[in-house]
Amino acid sequence: MHPESSSRIRTSGARDRLGRDVSFAEDAWSDVVTTPRTHWTRTISTSPRNWGLRIFPETRVDAIEQAADGGYNLVAFRSTAMVHRERQLWRAPIVVLAAGVLGTVDLLLRARENGSVPNLSSAIGRRVRTNSEAIVGATSRRGNVDFTDGVAITSGIYPDEVTHIQPVRYPRGSDLIGLLSKPLTDGGPGLPRPLRFLINCIRRPDDFVRSIVPFSWARRSILLLVMQVADNHLELILRRRWYWPFSYRLDSRNRAPREARNPSYIPVANDMARRVAKKIGGWPSSSINEVLFDIPSTAHILGGAAIGNDPEDAVCDDRNRVFGHPNLYVVDGSAVPVNLGVNPALTITALAEHAMSHVPAKSASLETPAAAAGGGAN
Ligand SMILES: Cc1cc2nc3c(=O)[nH]c(=O)nc-3n(C[C@H](O)[C@H](O)[C@H](O)COP(=O)(O)OP(=O)(O)OC[C@H]3O[C@@H](n4cnc5c(N)ncnc54)[C@H](O)[C@@H]3O)c2cc1C
Repeated sequence: MHPESSSRIRTSGARDRLGRDVSFAEDAWSDVVTTPRTHWTRTISTSPRNWGLRIFPETRVDAIEQAADGGYNLVAFRSTAMVHRERQLWRAPIVVLAAGVLGTVDLLLRARENGSVPNLSSAIGRRVRTNSEAIVGATSRRGNVDFTDGVAITSGIYPDEVTHIQPVRYPRGSDLIGLLSKPLTDGGPGLPRPLRFLINCIRRPDDFVRSIVPFSWARRSILLLVMQVADNHLELILRRRWYWPFSYRLDSRNRAPREARNPSYIPVANDMARRVAKKIGGWPSSSINEVLFDIPSTAHILGGAAIGNDPEDAVCDDRNRVFGHPNLYVVDGSAVPVNLGVNPALTITALAEHAMSHVPAKSASLETPAAAAGGGAN
C-alpha cells in the first residue's frame, strides 16, 4: 500500500463493469490509483519512483481500455472476494497480456465487443488449438505394481508423421484424478459414442467399477499424452450461457469442416492405450468427457490471439504486439499460431523472450502506432 500522496485526484473517464467512475492520482503515469467509493490506493510498477517488479496476488483484470494518451487502463478486482471486491483501476503505458488463452482471449473479445480498445482484429478467438490432443491410458489389474517412482514425463514416441505420444506417471496418492479415466471407447462413424461406452461398461463391469472407485489408481496407471501437429482448431466466442443468461461468458463453437475440427477421438491413441494395457495386465482408458460427450480434452490450449502476417487472420505481429497497438503485447499460449505437437511451455517462454528482447529500454521513447506501422518487424 502506498500512503495517500499529495497528488490531485482526477477522473479518468473510465468506468468499471458496474458503471462506476474510476479516478487517478495526477502524476506521470499515475503511481496511485483510487476508486471513488473506497479511496483505496496502491503503488503500481510503472511509477518512476518504483521501477521494480511488484506482484499483486488474487487480482483479476476485468477490462482493458485504451486511454486518450495512448496508454491503457485496466480495471481489476480481488478475485478471491465474494463481496467488497475492491475494484481498482491500473494505468500503464505498455501492457503485456499474459492471462493464458482463456484469460487473454476473454479480455480481448470483451474489449473488441464494447469498443474500449479500437481496431482490434476480427481474428480474436479464432484458431484456438487443443494441441490436437487426447489423454488416454492404462491401469494395471495387478496389485503389486508401482509406476509412481520417477519423473512424470521421461520419453516419447512418434507412431506416425503427425503424432507424438508421451507416457505420464502420477505421484503416489494422486488417485482422485483417476475418476476422469473411464473404460476405453472408440469414436468414429456408427453407434453414438456414449452408447458404445455404455455397452463397454456392461461388458466389463469390473473395469467400470475400478474407474469409479480409483483406489491406488496412481500407483497402477500410466497415462498417454497424445499430441499432434495436425492443423485443427475451434473458435472461442462470447455468448450468454443457458445456465447464466445475465452476462456474456466465454464459449466455444466449431464451424470448421469436420476434418479441421479438434479431434475427440484419435485412433492411434486408442490403439496405443490397448497395447500398454496388454503389457501391464490392465484395462485401457479414455477421458470421461471424450466418451460421454465426445468433447476433446487438453492440458495445452493454444491460440486465439495468434501471431501472423496481418490483422485479417491474426491478432499479433511477430513481436507479439497486437496489430495497431505497439504497446499492447500478448505473451502467452494464445499467441501460438499452430498445434505444436509437443508440450508448449518452452515455446511460450521462447516467444516471450523474443518479444521482450524488442521492448525498448526504459529511457527510450515509446513507439507510436504510426511509427510501428512504418517500421518492419525483425
Ligand atoms: C496438468 C497440466 C500439466 C502440464 N504439464 C506441462 C508440461 O509438463 N510441460 C509443458 O510444457 N506444459 C505443460 N502444461 C501446459 C502449460 O502449463 C501451459 O501451456 C502454460 O502454462 C500456458 O502458459 P500461459 O502463459 O499461456 O498461461 P498460464 O500459465 O495459464 O498463465 C496465465 C495466468 O494468468 C492468470 N489469469 C487468467 N486470467 C486473468 C485475468 N483476467 N487477470 C489476471 N490474471 C489472469 C491465471 O490465473 C494464470 O496464473 C501442463 C498443463 C496442465 C494443465
